Amino acid sequence: MPSLDTFAEEKLARIAAQGRLREPVVTRALERAWAMRAGRSLLSFSGNDYLALRDHAEVRAAATAAIDEHGTGAGAAYLVTGNHPLYVELESELATFTEAAAALIFGSGYLASIGTIPALVGSGDLILIDERMHACSMTGARLAGCTVELFRHNDVGDLKRKLQLHRASFRNAIVITEGVFSMDGDLAPLPALGTLAHEFEAWFMVDDAHGFGTLGDGRGAAFASGAEASVDVLVGTLSKALASYGGYVCASASVIALLRNRARSFIYSTALPPASVAAALTALRILKREPARAALPLASARAFTHALGLSPATSAIVPLIVGTSDNAMRAAADLERDGFLVVPIRPPTVPEGSARLRVSFSAAHTSDDVARLARSVRARSIFA
Ligand SMILES: *Cc1c(COP(=O)(O)O)cnc(C)c1O
Repeated sequence: MPSLDTFAEEKLARIAAQGRLREPVVTRALERAWAMRAGRSLLSFSGNDYLALRDHAEVRAAATAAIDEHGTGAGAAYLVTGNHPLYVELESELATFTEAAAALIFGSGYLASIGTIPALVGSGDLILIDERMHACSMTGARLAGCTVELFRHNDVGDLKRKLQLHRASFRNAIVITEGVFSMDGDLAPLPALGTLAHEFEAWFMVDDAHGFGTLGDGRGAAFASGAEASVDVLVGTLSKALASYGGYVCASASVIALLRNRARSFIYSTALPPASVAAALTALRILKREPARAALPLASARAFTHALGLSPATSAIVPLIVGTSDNAMRAAADLERDGFLVVPIRPPTVPEGSARLRVSFSAAHTSDDVARLARSVRARSIFA
C-alpha cells in the first residue's frame, strides 16, 4: 500500500496529464464587475452575482445590522436553536415570491439538492434526470439509492420513451431538470417536461439556480415559460442572484414539513449565519421592488450574442465552446491580456471535447463593457 501522500501525488499526476488540474487563484472583488487578480484589475464575466447586489449598500447594511443584532453564527442547527427570526421572514417571502405554499432554507444549494432528493425517493423508486444536471443533483440521485435513468439533454421524446419503458416497474418516480443549465445557458422545455412527468404520475423537480433573479421578472425559468404550476419541488440558491450564501427549496407545506424531518443535509448541519440570511432577504426585496433589474443580465447576453452573430442568448449565460481544455486555457489567457476575466470550464464539469469559456452577464455590466468583450473575442479569434 502506498503512503497517503504518494497516493495523492499519483492521482494528481494523472489529473494533470489530462489537463484537468485546477489551481484556485486569489481573486479580490472590486467595484461593479471588476476583480483583482495577481495585482491586475480585470473586468469579470465569470461571476453569478447577476443582479449586482453583492456590493449594494442596502444589502451590506442589512448583513452588518444582522451581525450587530444576532451575532456572527447561528450557533446550532435550525431544529436546535439555529432558527433565528430572519429565517422565518426569508422562507415566507421566498415562498410567496415563487407562489409556493412553503419554503425551507439549507446551508447551500448543493446541500438542498443532496438532502431533498433522498428525502423524496428511495429504494423501489425511479429518478429520471437530465444528463447535464449539475453535480449536486447527480450526487443527490446517487445518495437516494434508487434506480437512476439519465434522459438526453432537454429531450422530451427521450424522457417519454424512458417513462414508457420504466415507469410501471417502480412505486414512485421523479423527473429532475434545471431551469437554466449552468454551463450551457440553455433553458429546459419546462412546460412539456412537467406535463409529461404528471401524465406518467411522476413528480417534477426543477433546480433554478440560474433562472431565479434573471428570468420571468426574477421569479425564474418556470414563470418565464408558464410552467410554474407544474413544478412540485423548486430548488434554488441564495448565492447567485441573491448575492449571499445558502440554498432553498419551495414546495407544498407537507413536502416542506417532510424535508424538515427527513433531509439529512438540513437536519444535521448548522443553520446559516444571520448575516447571510439578512443579505439574501434584502436582496430579494430589492429584486421585488426593481423587477427591471432582473432583465438586465439577459439583455446584455443578447447584445453579446448579437454582436458576435451567435444565436440569441436565452439566459444570462453564453458558452463559447472551444473544444480542448488547452484551447479553453489559451482563450482565457488571451482575454485576460485584454483585461477580461472569463474563466475556462473544462471536463469533467462539461463533456469531453466541449471545454469552453462560460461568459455570464450581470446587471453590473454596461453596454460598453459588453461591446468591448465582444470585440476582444472576435479579435482573438476565440471560436470559429
Ligand atoms: C450553483 C449551483 C448550485 C449550487 O448552489 P450553491 O448554493 O452554490 O451550493 C446548484 N445547482 C446549480 C444548477 C448551480 O448552478
